[in-house]
Amino acid sequence: MPDFAAAAKDAAQLLSRLIQFDTTNPPGQELACLQFLQNTLRDLGLETRLYESAEGRGNLLAFRPATRPDALPSDKALLLMGHVDVVPAEPQYWTYPPFSGTIADGYVWGRGALDMKHLVAIWVVLLKLLQREGPPLRRPIKVMFNADEEAGGHLGAGWMVEHHLEEIRAAAALNEGGGEEIRLGSRSYFTYQPAEKASAAFELVARGTPGHGSVPHDDNALLWLARALEALATAQPPLVVTEPVRAMVESMARHQEEPMKSLLLDFLKPEKAHDAFRRFQLPQQRWTLWALLHNTVTPTMLTAGSRPNVIPSEARAVCDCRLLPGETSASMEHWIREVLRAHGLHEKVTVKMPPAASSPSSPLDHPLVESMARALRRHRPESPLIPTMLTGGTDGSWLRPAGIPTYGFVPLPEGEEYERVHGIDERVSIGGLEFALKVLYDTVVDFCR
Ligand SMILES: [Zn+2]
Repeated sequence: MPDFAAAAKDAAQLLSRLIQFDTTNPPGQELACLQFLQNTLRDLGLETRLYESAEGRGNLLAFRPATRPDALPSDKALLLMGHVDVVPAEPQYWTYPPFSGTIADGYVWGRGALDMKHLVAIWVVLLKLLQREGPPLRRPIKVMFNADEEAGGHLGAGWMVEHHLEEIRAAAALNEGGGEEIRLGSRSYFTYQPAEKASAAFELVARGTPGHGSVPHDDNALLWLARALEALATAQPPLVVTEPVRAMVESMARHQEEPMKSLLLDFLKPEKAHDAFRRFQLPQQRWTLWALLHNTVTPTMLTAGSRPNVIPSEARAVCDCRLLPGETSASMEHWIREVLRAHGLHEKVTVKMPPAASSPSSPLDHPLVESMARALRRHRPESPLIPTMLTGGTDGSWLRPAGIPTYGFVPLPEGEEYERVHGIDERVSIGGLEFALKVLYDTVVDFCR
């Protein structure tokens, strides 16, 4: 068994170094960070390639061949992924400067500590362990470190799928966006993420008759828009139980006592879901559960008017909209139009929705999932592995439609503060890094042996 405590210190040092590359996206400028990673992986004896997708932007590939005579071909590799860009930080609010990579109080602090230079550092240290003392493996390992995830991945994972798909082809991929320990009552679970929702933001445009604010009339664009938003909020798209969410809720329920067991299962029944939502005592969790069972529409931006005394001819709203796996913007747009029609608003308010589709879930019974479950049982036998779905998106949304089953799995015990992701004082504990390294090392070895 490798010395995981020492490996975690190693990962913390590397993470600190990675955080010091300011890869705030926009503008990203990930190339220097990727060149550093390329040198590090090359020093481990891996074959590497760095592709520039735009000036100062790029994607790094590394390849570790199988080390057993009965080697599997390259397209049966395991792909380890990560993105090196981060979202902006407001340094004035941080305890330590966000790009200092300070190691203090048992944590590595900085932008990217949890999203997601931590996994990039873990993959490098894991490969170092494999190169130094790992068992012979049948399966090759590929590594892909990307730019641009935080802005949609068009110059990152999306660019690689478009230009170098055959090089990244793999039996399965491990990525961010799952793996955390969640607790319900006395029971805790670790998640893995085979599916995520897709973004399909749209605009509502209301038109009315302009005029002087001192003479109100009944064709005010602002009021049409307000009615349309209210109508969409009240209508609520119907309950849709997808396979990963059904499996998640059922496996959680299996380990709960009554009345929680029945309450959870009620979420899956169209006639009982509303009541279950009302009775569920954990506010944050119930909103998340609700979002996992519905296509959602959330108004997020409004624009109208120029002066207090002018009735505008037009008012616009942008709505965040998230599609469940397998859904398209066309079906959602149809639903929105139906709601507007039912409220007599269809002639006053139009919908502008760019085409979008949500890729189907990766299989829940993939051998890689079994490897994750076995690895987790070894280190945390009392906490079952359950699937989950992301309400947001990751680079996995590029790989799944390209035919690469992708799973979010960064196993971190309770206590990591995910609310700091994209916020202030983002940090990851060194104890968390050690646990993740152990479980991921065993997962990789189990799947690749
Ligand atoms: Zn991320």
